[in-house]
Amino acid sequence: MSSRVCLVHYHEIGLKGKNRSTFENQLVTNLHRALRDFDLAEIKRVSGHILVSATSGRVSEEMAAAISQVPGVARVSMAYLCGLDGDEYCAAAVQALGEFGPFNSFKVHARRSATNYELHTLDINRLVGGVLCEAFPDKKVEMHNPDATVFVHVVQGSVYVYAASQVGVGGLPVGTAGKVVTLLSSGFDSPVATWMVGRRGAICVPVHFSGRPQTSDTSEWLCRDICDALTPSGVVGRLYVVPFGERQREISLAVPQSLRIITYRRVMFAVAERIAKIEGAKALVTGESLGQVASQTLDNIAAVDEIATIPVLRPLIGSDKQEIMRRAMQIGTHDLSAQAVDDCCTLFMPRRPETHARLEAVHEAWDSFDHDAMIEELVDTAEYLDYDQCPSYRAPKRWRRHHRELGPAQRTDLVEGDSN
Ligand code: ATP
Ligand code: MG
Repeated sequence: MSSRVCLVHYHEIGLKGKNRSTFENQLVTNLHRALRDFDLAEIKRVSGHILVSATSGRVSEEMAAAISQVPGVARVSMAYLCGLDGDEYCAAAVQALGEFGPFNSFKVHARRSATNYELHTLDINRLVGGVLCEAFPDKKVEMHNPDATVFVHVVQGSVYVYAASQVGVGGLPVGTAGKVVTLLSSGFDSPVATWMVGRRGAICVPVHFSGRPQTSDTSEWLCRDICDALTPSGVVGRLYVVPFGERQREISLAVPQSLRIITYRRVMFAVAERIAKIEGAKALVTGESLGQVASQTLDNIAAVDEIATIPVLRPLIGSDKQEIMRRAMQIGTHDLSAQAVDDCCTLFMPRRPETHARLEAVHEAWDSFDHDAMIEELVDTAEYLDYDQCPSYRAPKRWRRHHRELGPAQRTDLVEGDSN
């Protein structure tokens, strides 16, 4: 009797040689972590796929859904795992097509890898096709663009049979593209930007600036909830929260009203970059999209960007709000971001922010307060919370200062420059 397994498909483009096994091994590790609450029996590589089996012998829809959320997964199919007996895999093909959903036309696509099975693909197509035509007499066989395709994949002593597949999130396994620090507000954009770089294989370390103590800590809780919502993807390693309210008050007293936002943002970038160096992260990420708000004009982006010495990635720069909201819905952060809360962005806002900052004026404002001391102090007061769904995340081992934990994570004594 055949058992039910998940067959995980990934895109193979660009995955040659050593890259390919690094990619596959990381995907297997990440799937182990994502499936740890399921009755998982085994995850193994099988001829260009990854095979996931359950101790009960039958994987569940929930397991397939969890797999589809993991970056690197292009598709996942709940396949029947059969022996080489024709009756067995033909019966599985009838079941698989029966479960496909509505269809009018179908075809069989047989494939053989690493096998000395006596039947060739054409024979298998004919054998299985014949049985399916009898079982579904009112359906048409169509070789080009059929509604349903029944895949019959022979690998060594086994045959995998499936018809329906669930689309995965695609991308690359988290941990294959290094580490980034993402600037995370509780708005719609930055959770999506975080997820997008995570989907390209980066380990994400979000940093949130809250308005505490001038505002409540609600935005911090929302950011925690957002990171929780992202856990099925395993992209978040650790969240840092930096209480920024008091320092914003100081800035608002020191610099001209119209340059407050740019100055806050320069400080945020500088602190995020310091945290990136400590973490061994190689880029900053923001949720900016061009022209969306006053601070996102090219002049203002340039006035903030010059603070950073590492690349600043803006995955949403060309996206419209509607696209971003749709993606937020898909990754489960939309309803959290829809809650309007005070964070540091709503504090000490000028009535007329500068939209085309002149660098001279920005530099003058920057030099009107002790920014180095402020940045140092803010890095010092950062608090953190670890997320254990990202197996490749390594916390910096030591740091000069003690940082307060936000949650049950273990406290560590960290020394700058000694990351990973
Ligand atoms: P979002 O929807 O991500 O909040 P936004 O449309 O509100 O973006 P801004 O407030 O101009 O736009 O922020 C632009 C980017 O700056 C954000 O996408 C985020 O990366 C970063 N950012 C803004 N506020 C914060 C914050 N409080 N903490 C950390 N990063 C922030
Ligand atoms: Mg915002």
